[in-house]
Amino acid sequence: MTDNSLTSELGALGYDAALESASLARLQPSYGLFIDGQFTEPSRHQQFTSINPATEETIATVAMASSSDVDVAVASARRAYNKVWSKTSGAERAKYLYRIARLIQERSRELAVVETLDNGKPIRETRDIDVPLAAAYFFYYAGWADKLEYAGYGPNPQPVGVAGQIIPWNFPLLMAAWKLAPALAAGNTCVLKPAETTPLSALILAEILQQAGLPEGVVNIVTGDGTTGAALVDHPGVDKIAFTGSTEVGRLIQERVAPTSKRLTLELGGKGANIVFDDAPIDEVIEGIIDGIFYNQGHVCCAGSRLLVQESVADEVLRRLLRRVDQLRVGNPMDKNTDVGAINSAAQLERIRELSNWGEQEGATRYTSSCDLPAKGYWFAPTVFANVAQSHRIAREEIFGPVLSVLTFRTPEEAIAKANNSKYGLACGVWSEKGSRTLWVAQRLRAGVIWANTYNKFDPTSPFGGVRESGFGREGGRHGLEAYLDV
Ligand code: NAP
Ligand code: MG
Repeated sequence: MTDNSLTSELGALGYDAALESASLARLQPSYGLFIDGQFTEPSRHQQFTSINPATEETIATVAMASSSDVDVAVASARRAYNKVWSKTSGAERAKYLYRIARLIQERSRELAVVETLDNGKPIRETRDIDVPLAAAYFFYYAGWADKLEYAGYGPNPQPVGVAGQIIPWNFPLLMAAWKLAPALAAGNTCVLKPAETTPLSALILAEILQQAGLPEGVVNIVTGDGTTGAALVDHPGVDKIAFTGSTEVGRLIQERVAPTSKRLTLELGGKGANIVFDDAPIDEVIEGIIDGIFYNQGHVCCAGSRLLVQESVADEVLRRLLRRVDQLRVGNPMDKNTDVGAINSAAQLERIRELSNWGEQEGATRYTSSCDLPAKGYWFAPTVFANVAQSHRIAREEIFGPVLSVLTFRTPEEAIAKANNSKYGLACGVWSEKGSRTLWVAQRLRAGVIWANTYNKFDPTSPFGGVRESGFGREGGRHGLEAYLDV
């Protein structure tokens, strides 16, 4: 099916493994909850384990927070808000945020290793993207903390109070930074709930908060599962819920919050269209498509999971894309040469398999990378489906894995119609050499983020968020402050 000639040629060059050392992680065997500035035992003494999805080995045992633990955490956040944080000036808050940012940089190698071990994503990505970006968000919002009156939200904008923040497993540290940095800059206190399969980098961050001398209770971290998240959502002492995760859980949360006075922002799923016009430079396009869907194993809410390519260049783009897919290095996430790491959990792997099987059943043409997969752990070979129709499940549903659906179009109008034919609206990419065409198309796409001649670019100065079933509210930039200000 795929053209392997070039691969074997390159394969002859070979790469030796360049392994990062797992011992840099310096993890404790077990972690408590981070409440009131201390690691504490959960009230019911329940624990769960976090595993390395690349090996299925247990990395650490973590406390399972019950609703009474959430209660204690929210009370701690409220106390810290009333007694300390609401009386701390913006300039003082900024100092803490700058300190946290610098400590993330100081401990960046350790954080990258922890994130890779816990999540399964390649060390190259945690080292070069997740951790530096997490620091960058703290640096960026540190800059806003003493300038809130210039943010466009009135002369004396006030914080909301106690924020309950629930994050997913695909960018554990980065999502914690996206949530905590703007909330703290705006003067709120926080209770953060990391995902069940990836709690560890948030616990290292808790150590960093201690090192930074952040006043007790300003940030509390409650590890646990969906029930912990639900207890936080339902807690009457929380003024605002910020959630990143699936549309399904987002919908549940919206129902729970609707009868209350809590504020809510939701960052949910997506089915991003990456639109390639026939004048776009093909070599760059191929790399952009690869970044769009295989970055972070495709566990990216804004992934370019639908490739819309103009019919006149579709054959050539597909041929070159498949050759490139075959060269992706899949395997040990701790190897600095690895492009695609492990799938985060058995459950996610099952979902990817199920939807990919539907792709075949519904008549799309499946191409699978010829890479070898490790025997242990959760793995899925990079996969491309051609001849996909708009009605196929793989064109409509979020797969959240390394699976690309390829569709074609003839005119810009058709590209726009197809791109917008989705219940989601998080991100799109447009590839063309013509700026006027790019702008014309971008103005007609219904998505929160549009990239031009690039994909999956994140920057703390730039707002990120969705429309329709991808959620509402913005994170990042000046816009990201709004969610945490009483405006
Ligand atoms: P998820 O199942 O919705 O979980 C997200 C978080 O919510 C986790 O911490 C989860 O805890 C918790 N949770 C589960 N049930 C809950 C409930 N009833 N009430 C409150 N909290 C609850 O999503 P996921 O599988 O972790 O993440 C994948 C999804 O997130 C994808 O659909 C992706 O598109 C979306 N996502 C969106 C963005 C964005 O910015 N728009 C970013 C990243 C991911 P447990 O881990 O213990 O289940
Ligand atoms: Mg894990």
